Amino acid sequence: MTEVSVAKEDVAATGDLVVLKSVNKHFGALHVLQDIDLTIARGEVVVVIGPSGSGKSTLCRTINRLETIDSGSITIDGKPLPEEGKALARLRADVGMVFQSFNLFAHKTVLENVTLGQVKVRKKDKKEAEERARALLDRVGVAAQAEKYPAQLSGGQQQRVAIARALAMEPKVMLFDEPTSALDPEMINEVLEVMQQLARDGMTMIVVTHEMGFARSAANRVVFMADGRIVEQATPDQFFSNPRSDRAKDFLSKIL
Ligand code: ADP
Ligand code: MG
Repeated sequence: MTEVSVAKEDVAATGDLVVLKSVNKHFGALHVLQDIDLTIARGEVVVVIGPSGSGKSTLCRTINRLETIDSGSITIDGKPLPEEGKALARLRADVGMVFQSFNLFAHKTVLENVTLGQVKVRKKDKKEAEERARALLDRVGVAAQAEKYPAQLSGGQQQRVAIARALAMEPKVMLFDEPTSALDPEMINEVLEVMQQLARDGMTMIVVTHEMGFARSAANRVVFMADGRIVEQATPDQFFSNPRSDRAKDFLSKIL
């Protein structure tokens, strides 16, 4: 308890919510994250782009400790990431994550998907959790699907449920790892619109995406990764109109 209140005071002093310092990570001989320094301010929307295999997903996964790191430090809201147990479950609630594959519980209804974590991790009573779940499903435009199972929904609807499920935990930051990459083209915008609204509402977001329109309109900052390093960081305007590194120029010439 003492630990928590001390950490809160630390945070009040700075606007930084997610801080990575000299983070290194290997998969065997592969140095997948190399001296990553990254600071995300409260309310900031950071889009991470870069070639396939550059370490973007691994970066996201280290931030909610789906992957451990070899050296360096990561803090959320001034606190180091917990190792295990209930504190780790709370961290995963504080750091909402939305994956490329929607990862909903297949044998639970949409409503149950968005209710479960609130009851188990956040200790809400069931009625309160369901009310919050219905409000969030409404916010992402799938209220009418509440009693259905994930397989009965389109990909775009499932991904919006996944966003609602993460939001139900009242996260401090949301991580999106290519949330529209597995979607049919006509469903991409309905998911991006929900994310745009979330950004406008002030959510702190780290978004790995190839949707450059989203990056231009929603991001405060673009982080460009290549070969496990952050090669360049800039505002979207600066980055897209005047990339500095050859790696970024080469990448943009291929995708734009
Ligand atoms: P990105 O998301 O930018 O495409 P990833 O973070 O998924 O990149 O992967 C970076 C590199 O790490 C790739 O070469 C990938 O093959 C490798 N990698 C990712 N996860 C693992 C793992 N669990 N074990 C071994 N290698 C991995
Ligand atoms: Mg990836």
